[in-house]
Amino acid sequence: MSEFSLIEKYFSDIGQKRQDVLLSVGDDAAIVDVENLKQLAISVDTLIAGVHFPENTSAYDIGWKSLAVNLSDMAAMGAQPCWVTLAIALPKPEQRWLEQFSQGFSELAKKNNVQLIGGDTTRGTLSVTVQIIGHVESEQILKRSNAKVGDRIFVTGNLGDAGLALQSYLKNISLSESDHENVYARLNRPEPRVAFALAQKHLINAAIDISDGLYADLAHILKASSVGADIQFDQIPLSETYQKYLVDHKPYDLALAGGDDYELCVTVPECHVEEFRANAKLTDCKCTEIGSIVEGDKLSFWDKFGNNYTLQSQAYDHFPKDKR
Ligand code: ADP
Ligand code: MG
Repeated sequence: MSEFSLIEKYFSDIGQKRQDVLLSVGDDAAIVDVENLKQLAISVDTLIAGVHFPENTSAYDIGWKSLAVNLSDMAAMGAQPCWVTLAIALPKPEQRWLEQFSQGFSELAKKNNVQLIGGDTTRGTLSVTVQIIGHVESEQILKRSNAKVGDRIFVTGNLGDAGLALQSYLKNISLSESDHENVYARLNRPEPRVAFALAQKHLINAAIDISDGLYADLAHILKASSVGADIQFDQIPLSETYQKYLVDHKPYDLALAGGDDYELCVTVPECHVEEFRANAKLTDCKCTEIGSIVEGDKLSFWDKFGNNYTLQSQAYDHFPKDKR
């Protein structure tokens, strides 16, 4: 199959057909109509086999995840995602693989009203780069630098399942087959919180998506905003599976530093907390208060008895060299 018929067959009809796309896959560049938009939000992320996902990850899941991590960045900015481009390097073009990859990618794109409008296809070690473009009103951009002392801190979903899945894959922990499947789905098919962010952004001061673990990502908000945070670690939302397996001496480490959750961490000013909570109930997205922004520059973890929690390692190395 020639390069061009491959592009035509697998990449020319991915995602939602949008009215504002004047030219899509097939010309030298894509053309979109931005007449009614003011600010564009632009972001790019690369996933490399064996680094950002295990080598044996299914094509469908790679397609899904490569878009999901970019949608998650749009959510964290309060931006409405619109268009994506895809640069993909493939060791050898296998039809079945391409079919499933484009299915995973397209399904999530359609859910989010996003269209694939162009890209580049080359031969090489499997790597997938997705660039995403969205729009956001300037007064509602969710910056990392806007957290204020007194803000309450919330996170969406559950934390730690993706980290648990990776530990299971690396055989550091042994899960039952069904538990492994549950958490593995969370690692491979994260649900980017776009709808939640768009519905709540007018009530939020600062936001970040949790890709490297709450500890590392919340620290970015604190640094950018010159504030500290007190987190009640026993309030951190954990799945049933997580609660079942993590009874070792550092039970919260994976939830705090496991990475790959792609949930949102947001700070909400006191005056908006009630409305934020009520709105959250209307979305089908779990949302949990875990602490508050304080003066200073420290990130501390406490339980309700005032006990402090210190992490063994502040960010997990996803693929330690001897395990690759
Ligand atoms: P050029 O030589 O002009 O760069 P290409 O042969 O790289 O053109 O691509 C041809 C067309 O196919 C372009 O419109 C490009 O955006 C699109 N395209 C190539 N690869 C992909 C891909 N993986 N996903 C989506 N569109 C792609
Ligand atoms: Mg090209």
